[in-house]
Amino acid sequence: MAQARTAIVTGAARGIGAAVAKRLAKDGFAVAVIDLDAASTQETVAAIEAEGGKAIGVGADVSDAEQVAAAVAEVAEKLGPPTVLVNNAGVLRDNLLFKMTDSDWDTVINVHLRGSFLMTREVQKHQTEQKYGRIVNLSSTSALGNRGQANYSAAKAGLQGFTKTLAIELGKFGVTANAIAPGFIATDMTAATAERVGASFEDFKKGAAAMIPVGRVGTPEDIAATASFLVSEEAGFVSGQVIYVAGGPRD
Ligand code: NAP
Repeated sequence: MAQARTAIVTGAARGIGAAVAKRLAKDGFAVAVIDLDAASTQETVAAIEAEGGKAIGVGADVSDAEQVAAAVAEVAEKLGPPTVLVNNAGVLRDNLLFKMTDSDWDTVINVHLRGSFLMTREVQKHQTEQKYGRIVNLSSTSALGNRGQANYSAAKAGLQGFTKTLAIELGKFGVTANAIAPGFIATDMTAATAERVGASFEDFKKGAAAMIPVGRVGTPEDIAATASFLVSEEAGFVSGQVIYVAGGPRD
């Protein structure tokens, strides 16, 4: 039986999420583009439709259980049962520990960790019913520790443990779960970091590229290509893995 081909990508209004949504649409998935505000999803949806793909935009805050339940129900109704989930929505609230506020901590943990938990708990109902599913969580090289990112590195390391547990619990239902841990990817998020440290984005990227073995920074499409493989049917024996996509090795 052909698998249901509906994918959800969170935080897909821009950056890595938008590239993943476009790539999965090219791969033949009907794609639900979820972001905080439905209006912000329209650019990604229009780009997919312009290429002949199928997509809908849904507004939801992934850290809010009610909004998540409503969003996943809307996707299932309009596009069919979601069997593919890419938990990509993310925010930064960087600060050195002694300056980090409660709100900096809670916001980052809530969007990345609670958001991925809520989305996955909702989507697995459809996946286990279909006896098939693919989950990809966006971790980061920051999971290994990064100055100014106690909140973010804790969330991204947490997502790795979350991913491995999903792989163990859901494997018998035909569901795989993997994490992609990107290094430096040129997006609004890294542009904002450049601004915060007082560097031009071009200089910031040049400095980062000099430290990366392949000699360049990453693009959203680098991550989309990896996600495309992990959500494919042929990746069914790859589960519980953390794939560093960083232009070089990481521990
Ligand atoms: P980005 O350009 O900032 O995009 C993140 C998207 O997530 C935005 O559209 C944002 O919406 C959305 N979002 C934020 N909070 C949300 C919420 N509560 N509910 C729903 N959507 C929400 O970031 P990116 O660089 O593409 O990063 C994507 C993912 O990759 C993140 O998980 C990030 O941590 C991870 N990552 C990025 C890099 C990198 O170098 N860029 C490296 C490693 C890992 P708004 O625009 O409305 O805020």
